[in-house]
Amino acid sequence: MSKTIFELSSPGRKGYTLPKCDLPDTFKAEIPQQYLKFMRKSAPRLPECSELDVIRHFIELSHKNHFIEKGLYPLGSCTMKYNPKVHESIARHTCFVNIHPYQPLCTVQGALEIMYELQRDLSEISGMTQVTLQPVAGAHGEFTGLKVIHAYHQHNGNHHKNKIIMPDSAHGTNPASCTLAGFEVIELKSRPDGRVDTEQLRQIVGDDTAGFMLTNPNTLGLFESQVEEIAAIIHSVDGLMYMDGANLNALLGIVKPGQIGFDVMHFNLHKTFSTPHGGGGPGAGPVGVVEKLVKFLPAPLIGKNQDGYFLDFSHKETAISKVHTFYGNFALMLRAWVYIRMLGAEGLRKVSENAIINANYLKFRLAPYFHIEHTEHCMHEFVADGTKQKKEQGVSTLDIAKRLLDKGYHAPTIYFPLIIPEAMMIEPTETESLQSLDAFADAMIEIAKEVETNPDMLHQAPLTTPVRRVDDVRAVKQLDVKFPI
Ligand SMILES: *Cc1c(COP(=O)(O)O)cnc(C)c1O
Repeated sequence: MSKTIFELSSPGRKGYTLPKCDLPDTFKAEIPQQYLKFMRKSAPRLPECSELDVIRHFIELSHKNHFIEKGLYPLGSCTMKYNPKVHESIARHTCFVNIHPYQPLCTVQGALEIMYELQRDLSEISGMTQVTLQPVAGAHGEFTGLKVIHAYHQHNGNHHKNKIIMPDSAHGTNPASCTLAGFEVIELKSRPDGRVDTEQLRQIVGDDTAGFMLTNPNTLGLFESQVEEIAAIIHSVDGLMYMDGANLNALLGIVKPGQIGFDVMHFNLHKTFSTPHGGGGPGAGPVGVVEKLVKFLPAPLIGKNQDGYFLDFSHKETAISKVHTFYGNFALMLRAWVYIRMLGAEGLRKVSENAIINANYLKFRLAPYFHIEHTEHCMHEFVADGTKQKKEQGVSTLDIAKRLLDKGYHAPTIYFPLIIPEAMMIEPTETESLQSLDAFADAMIEIAKEVETNPDMLHQAPLTTPVRRVDDVRAVKQLDVKFPI
């Protein structure tokens, strides 16, 4: 294991120069008596290193983590694609970093124009009428969209509509957001082909149904082909259709959710539209709605009239309350706007086509080695599983995922979706080349072979990482990131 910065320390070595202290000797006399006890008696114990030591240390540390620029990152559902660097240089431009939301509108017309255009582009891409850019995460978008559904039913006097139906393949945030928004969740068991069981849906839908929430493509990486039928059932009781559009990278330019029966949806700009994410960094989860729901979106929307762009509060009487300070995470909107501008309509469609082709290619290459429950063509991701390895050699999906770290890859999403035992949810994204897909497939196949020849080693993996297996549960409950000094 490499040395810590404290171990690198050598007394008297420095990587900085401070200006000469210009405090008069008398300054101590000016400190009120009661604060003197807080004065340090001895110097803090800090590492003493040269600038080069420090830089080498941090460069080395940075490589201990996994990131997309280091290697393929097939974390299903999370869309860890490469984010073009041009987004970053534009987002750092002084024109953008130095503006403030309290500035007079006439001085920020350019920023408002970008937001206005992004509202319009996302509406166009999704087939929705209007979009709010306020929510700052996918789950936050879900919450906002569900509050809009709630407001719609309240507005119509349907106070008893308090149930949201969703399939058991739903992304974990879906039931959580429903509960937070005050709804009761009704779970629907998926059919053996991984799709919504519309027969069962007909049985449980009722007057108290507020809506239906569907992840599409679903978490099995399959397109839910019966959306129109589901929408007819839900609309027949004046329920609303919510689409979890976090993974819209499978549908760009191919399907417009607003045209197949969805009424509300969220986008994850930090997945589909290539803005950086992970590590809990800032996100953006805009929400699009059909015409009859526009008046419930949080105010303001960005409007345009003959004088230019403005903050449109005209629907504030019916709007749900704001869901974020000011207008959302502008720097992410900006990156997404650049992404859409750079690619254009055709480019966006290619994004989805390539995401789908890449996933199917990997699925095809891995199929002889790993069990895959749903063998039909997938969308942007697929779910393989380790049931064969578990049954034959006692090697779990966790072991396989840990071994991948030794081979220089991030693990796929594992043990999700819950309906597939030993699940490995693999999403290569469209930014990977044929060569890198092949290299990843080779690594997975090598592991499948190791399972047969050396199962014990797999229980030990990872063997090469600075930290071996951690107790995930304890790490969450007793997080301690301090260096013991
Ligand atoms: C990522 C994801 C979410 C949640 O998005 P966050 O920005 O992490 O809150 C919701 N649904 C699906 C299908 C997702 O993949």
